Amino acid sequence: MVVILGLEGTAWNLSAALVTDDRVIYETESAYKPAHGGIHPREAAQHHASELKRVVSEVIEGAKEKGFSISDIDGVAFSQGPGMGPCLRTVATAARALALTLKKPLIGVNHCIAHIEIGRWRCGVRDPVVLYVSGANSQVLTYYAGRYRILGETLDIGIGNALDKFARYMGLSHPGGPKIEELASRAREYIHLPYVVKGMDFSFSGLTTAAKDALDAGHDREAVCYSFQETAFAMLTEVTERAMAYCGKEELLLAGGVGANRRLQQMLRTMCHDRGARFSVPEARYLRDNGAMIAYLGLLQFKSGQTIELRESAVKPNFRPDEVEVVWRGINN
Ligand code: AMP
Ligand code: MG
Repeated sequence: MVVILGLEGTAWNLSAALVTDDRVIYETESAYKPAHGGIHPREAAQHHASELKRVVSEVIEGAKEKGFSISDIDGVAFSQGPGMGPCLRTVATAARALALTLKKPLIGVNHCIAHIEIGRWRCGVRDPVVLYVSGANSQVLTYYAGRYRILGETLDIGIGNALDKFARYMGLSHPGGPKIEELASRAREYIHLPYVVKGMDFSFSGLTTAAKDALDAGHDREAVCYSFQETAFAMLTEVTERAMAYCGKEELLLAGGVGANRRLQQMLRTMCHDRGARFSVPEARYLRDNGAMIAYLGLLQFKSGQTIELRESAVKPNFRPDEVEVVWRGINN
């Protein structure tokens, strides 16, 4: 039995978890909520620094009650990137200190791939096309020849970021995605907004500007929120469907915090149903940023010998999933 401690803190959520082969032993988190505006990288990092000791101690204590002790830990995994530099550095420093103290190896984890692997684990999915939609990232990926390949992605901001910016413009606090979903559910009218798909890529900043303009022109918030969602989610669904058709894959996995949106889920489910494909989405706690996904991918990497030395543990704010050699497929699945 392997036990891995995982630390996540790329952006808004500081989270730690202890995971073993077949289950999450214990997980805890501490969310940073900006007093106003969006996520401020330095403030978020300060939040993480002040909460790290409590969050890690809580996991160790919680695990004790389930019969696990600190000496059972085989390795320390952390989000090496992508993410906000100050947040990544704070969490990496803690991971290095823990690994040195416990005399156990460090495991550098790609945050995007962690979203994918926890989804495959929780949903029992084999070889999916993945739509990964979060604050900063929006990508369509699939596994091919030893790596997760990016088939399509945003040309500017992530969909979550676009929703958060638009919500902020309406005076709503961070995170804006769930508030927009709520407003959209009450709409009666669709307003035309720019639909931007270029090949397999998409873009959200023009859409966000046009939505702000529609509000300024006097359209009601509900209608603009609804139109924003319909347009953006249709773009994502179109590219995802094309990816499935090109790759001949019959499973779709939804990942990332925006995946909690029921309208997005509904569009993807309909698309999959029409093609005879299987649609999977994990529970909300595994969609958004969480420590369990870092610990779980850390466990897969540990089992396949993919640990790192201290000198290789520098953070990678622009870490792309296709930089990682996927050595673990075939071990647990
Ligand atoms: P993550 O970075 O993966 O934790 O995702 C965070 C992003 O998910 C933020 O931009 C949120 O606004 C967004 N989000 C969370 N819940 C929803 C929802 N129900 N609908 C749309 N976006 C959401
Ligand atoms: Mg994320």
